[in-house]
Amino acid sequence: ETLDKGLEKTKTTFFSKLSKAVAGKSKVDDDVLDNLEEVLVSSDVGVNTTLKIIDRIEARVAKDKYMGTDELNSILREEIAALLSETHLGEEREFGIPIDKKPYVIMVVGVNGVGKTTTIGKLAYQFKKQGLKVVLGAADTFRAAAIDQLQVWADRVDVPIVKQKMGSDPASVAFDTLSSAVTQDADVVIIDTAGRLHNKVNLMNELTKVKRVMQKVVDDTPHEVLLVLDGSTGQNAFEQAKQFTKATEVTALAVTKLDGTAKGGVVIGISDQFQIPVKYIGVGEGIEDLQVFNKYEFVDSFFN
Ligand code: GDP
Repeated sequence: ETLDKGLEKTKTTFFSKLSKAVAGKSKVDDDVLDNLEEVLVSSDVGVNTTLKIIDRIEARVAKDKYMGTDELNSILREEIAALLSETHLGEEREFGIPIDKKPYVIMVVGVNGVGKTTTIGKLAYQFKKQGLKVVLGAADTFRAAAIDQLQVWADRVDVPIVKQKMGSDPASVAFDTLSSAVTQDADVVIIDTAGRLHNKVNLMNELTKVKRVMQKVVDDTPHEVLLVLDGSTGQNAFEQAKQFTKATEVTALAVTKLDGTAKGGVVIGISDQFQIPVKYIGVGEGIEDLQVFNKYEFVDSFFN
């Protein structure tokens, strides 16, 4: 239901463009495919993923002698579901982040303003609701506001937070957070990090150092590197994904602000282009407005 709300604008815009693209046409021909390509690109699916989808539909058109435009919806639906299945393998990987180690350490990355802090807060809330013991780490020490904001969420969700003063070493905060989590016998640790993209080398060095120091406390951490992207920024989100995947290994994506945007196509394009599963989607500012991404629900609410 919330997902329907979250995707409403994307869906409405997409289908109104699609109906214009096939207006007056009964058969899927080159013209229709060209129009469809435009619709997908302008819905922020991304050029590469769009071409992939078009290629697949073209292959089907070549095989079937006659494909009516009335079939286009269901064919698109199948191809998008198939595409999502390639990145979102297996049922067990569908339902958010698997907490299978203790403490399970999630490092959260992303540029300022994308909804990183909010997503951490919502995630902490979900884990806590599941009965898990959560600890937050304020390793975005670059801005005082980042630490304060995380504190606000820690209070709201009522989970402990480990922080130091602004400007302190992020790796030291991460170390303290993990140590504290181990002492408290916590289940999940969520570490906020600074996302300064204007200095790629610094970003890479900082994230590498944070990881190295975390591993001194808990082996093979972080278990997850969650990149938060603002879905309403369309192509910017692609660019950020590109930069962050260069700087560190990203294992999961959270796409925020899908409510009130028509750019929800980024969910399809980004997971395909970077071959990283979207684990969560943000559909509002409230504490409950974070959904575990489910490819079946996504495709269903989009095409129904
Ligand atoms: P950060 O700088 O990346 O930590 O960003 P914040 O978490 O502070 O979020 C920036 C703004 O985006 C805040 O006003 C949030 O309430 C808002 N925001 C975050 N996620 C969502 C979402 O899924 N939907 C909407 N509508 N707003 C969101």
